[in-house]
Amino acid sequence: MVAKFQALKGTRDIMSPDSERQRALVDAFAEQARLAGYGHIMSPIFEDLGVFLRVGGSTDVVTKEMYDFEDKDGKRIALRPELTASVVRAFVQHNPPSLPWKVWYEGPQFRHEKPQAGRYRQFSQVGIEVLGSDDPAVDIEVITLGWRFYQSLGMSQVSLLLNSLGDETCRPAYFAALEEYLRDNAANLSEKSVETLEKNPLRVLDSKRGQDQEIVAGAPIMVDYLTEETGEHFAAVREGLDSLGISYEISPRLVRGLDYYTRTTFEFASTALENAQNAVGGGGRYDGLAESLGGKPTPGIGFALGVDRILLACDAEGVFEHAGAVPDVFIVDDVGGGEATVLADQLRSHGIAADRGFDGRSMKAQMKVANRSNAPWAIIIGETEQADGTVTLRDMHGDTGQTLISRDDLPNELSQRLGETSR
Ligand code: AMP
Repeated sequence: MVAKFQALKGTRDIMSPDSERQRALVDAFAEQARLAGYGHIMSPIFEDLGVFLRVGGSTDVVTKEMYDFEDKDGKRIALRPELTASVVRAFVQHNPPSLPWKVWYEGPQFRHEKPQAGRYRQFSQVGIEVLGSDDPAVDIEVITLGWRFYQSLGMSQVSLLLNSLGDETCRPAYFAALEEYLRDNAANLSEKSVETLEKNPLRVLDSKRGQDQEIVAGAPIMVDYLTEETGEHFAAVREGLDSLGISYEISPRLVRGLDYYTRTTFEFASTALENAQNAVGGGGRYDGLAESLGGKPTPGIGFALGVDRILLACDAEGVFEHAGAVPDVFIVDDVGGGEATVLADQLRSHGIAADRGFDGRSMKAQMKVANRSNAPWAIIIGETEQADGTVTLRDMHGDTGQTLISRDDLPNELSQRLGETSR
């Protein structure tokens, strides 16, 4: 026997019914995006490595976890670790005429992380990005869309953490204060954080290492350094959320995993999940990103939500269950000779989901498969039925037993009965 292969560490085959559930989740997200006027963008899953180096040069996501390689032309390529940079690259490339440009996306991302429950090397995200407006009403729309999406799945144990990371007008004073504080306390910081401090002091606040927590807890906070304008912007975002009844917690040490965030930043956490992997989404403003990718200065904001983790949170809450693909009818063919092939084709062309038995198996074996398929109806073609131009229609879940139906009437009769049960 030759050796078998396995899916690589940190990757999974997502199969029915989980795969259908994941698609249903993406559909639910697409519906929220449609309701709010967002167009769909599908960008490549690999990009010029430079796109990510430019936007996240001091982050773990880019420097440590990225799948990057040289292709056959010697070009440096990266599998995308996230989609904001790709979408902004697309915005700069295509320069859409009408602003704000509002898009949504879904798809796989790749990060070479240590796999554990809720943390994979290939995982899926859904998200939105808005470029071309810094109106706080956009921030409110973006955060609300995420919030309503979780609600649409039936999730109720989601908390919203909110912060403002300021902008170039307030950052110099804050960075100076933060740097001074961290340097004064460097002796008690982990070696890794001392290293990070040299590159980007803000990132030290994102440290999850136990040794750093006390110092991080006492660090100066950005919201105390906001200029009047940035402070007013943040206040407007909070007021808007208040007016919609969306509750949030101000989280002054919330910094995100990438460097480009400015002003409004937020994270959604599931209180139904274990603490370490409870982030089910996050995002924020990135007003300097388009310019750093070679475009005109253009404000932007967006978020990405982790599909795999949202589904774990749904499991924990016992919501958004999905039965997978269930046919409307299962055809059991006891005579052979192509009858089931013609019938299945005919029913499918009438929009009826029809599965069937194969391999000339016994009636009993086919009935077992019909049961397992969970189809509400079975059609049985026996010798008598074939001779009479009829089929037997059996109610698999209800109590109407079985009826003999003329072959010609079957599509209409079945459509009617399916309509009745779905009502
Ligand atoms: P980030 O861009 O890191 O803020 O990620 C946004 C969301 O994607 C997170 O809140 C998680 O729900 C999800 N996510 C990030 N990394 C992973 C991963 N390695 N595996 C599964 N989900 C992830």
